[in-house]
Amino acid sequence: MASLNFFTTLLVGSLFGMSAVAAGSSAVNSGFVTVGTGGVTGVYYPTGGAICRLMNKARRQHGLRCAVEATEGSVYNIQAIRSRELDFAIVQSDIQYKAVNGVAEFSQAGADKELRSVFSLYAEPFTLVARSDSGVTRFEDLRGKRINIGAIGSGHRGMMRELMKINGWSDKDFSQVTEFDSAEQAGVLCTGEVDAFVYTVGHPSGAIKEATTACDSAIIPLKGKLIERLLDNSGYYREAKIPGGMYRGNPDDIDTFGVGATLVVSSEVSEETVYLMTKAVFENFDQFRKLHPAFARLRKAEMLSDGLSAPIHPGALRYYRENRLLRK
Ligand code: GLU
Repeated sequence: MASLNFFTTLLVGSLFGMSAVAAGSSAVNSGFVTVGTGGVTGVYYPTGGAICRLMNKARRQHGLRCAVEATEGSVYNIQAIRSRELDFAIVQSDIQYKAVNGVAEFSQAGADKELRSVFSLYAEPFTLVARSDSGVTRFEDLRGKRINIGAIGSGHRGMMRELMKINGWSDKDFSQVTEFDSAEQAGVLCTGEVDAFVYTVGHPSGAIKEATTACDSAIIPLKGKLIERLLDNSGYYREAKIPGGMYRGNPDDIDTFGVGATLVVSSEVSEETVYLMTKAVFENFDQFRKLHPAFARLRKAEMLSDGLSAPIHPGALRYYRENRLLRK
């Protein structure tokens, strides 16, 4: 499909940047580092590919091979870092906060003392997409509909649950609640299996492109009292806009709320490895920013401060101090 060419190019590009490594085969200083991402039609996956591509460029010098893994998303990624199946991962800033504080999805596991941050990336607006014939034009219209709230390991599922709670809803307010993976969402929307889905993702993303081209569907704005109450209730969400002109039928910016994408790592990954990963991105910054349209507006200073609840890993700190990006 011509409209997917851009994403196909990215996927192929990220395949070159990765090597085939099975989950769980990484070890500190083994010569491999793994980066957990999300579904292949999201933005985490090409982001991991871009980071690995830059890291692998200098492989002859440092001897490390970086590989990306497609996953269910943020919650899965935090758990996999904790169990040391992954070294690095991309996670939502709210999920990073919840893991560090041992709340919400992480209340059973408790506060994650070993999680470290590296840098933050781009904005991830909460994106509600409904099929045009579903009659959904506002969040409130979802009552009685079939909604995909996301896989258990996804980050958007928790955001949807908070939104439902603020609105006084439980699963019973929908005729069906499904848990398809992010890469399956556009397909089940367009075949009519669900009326709407939610996805917290950078833009443009392959999944939203597919959902807005393969059938008639709309991105639904989220604003007003509901969102005001949600933002009052939690410090980790902020107002966000889905930029206009990225998808068919969506020429104008769309109001919603959102979080940021962040790169995290286990404290057990060596200082040298994290230093090399940080250096790969920051020393090739202009090239990095061109690898995905969601990176175009990245600023180094903001990447060191926005949405990082976990302490910055010593390897990243070393790079930031050496390059005067951080003083202390
Ligand atoms: N924010 C989503 C999640 O944490 C993933 C988005 C993506 O893959 O780009 O589940």
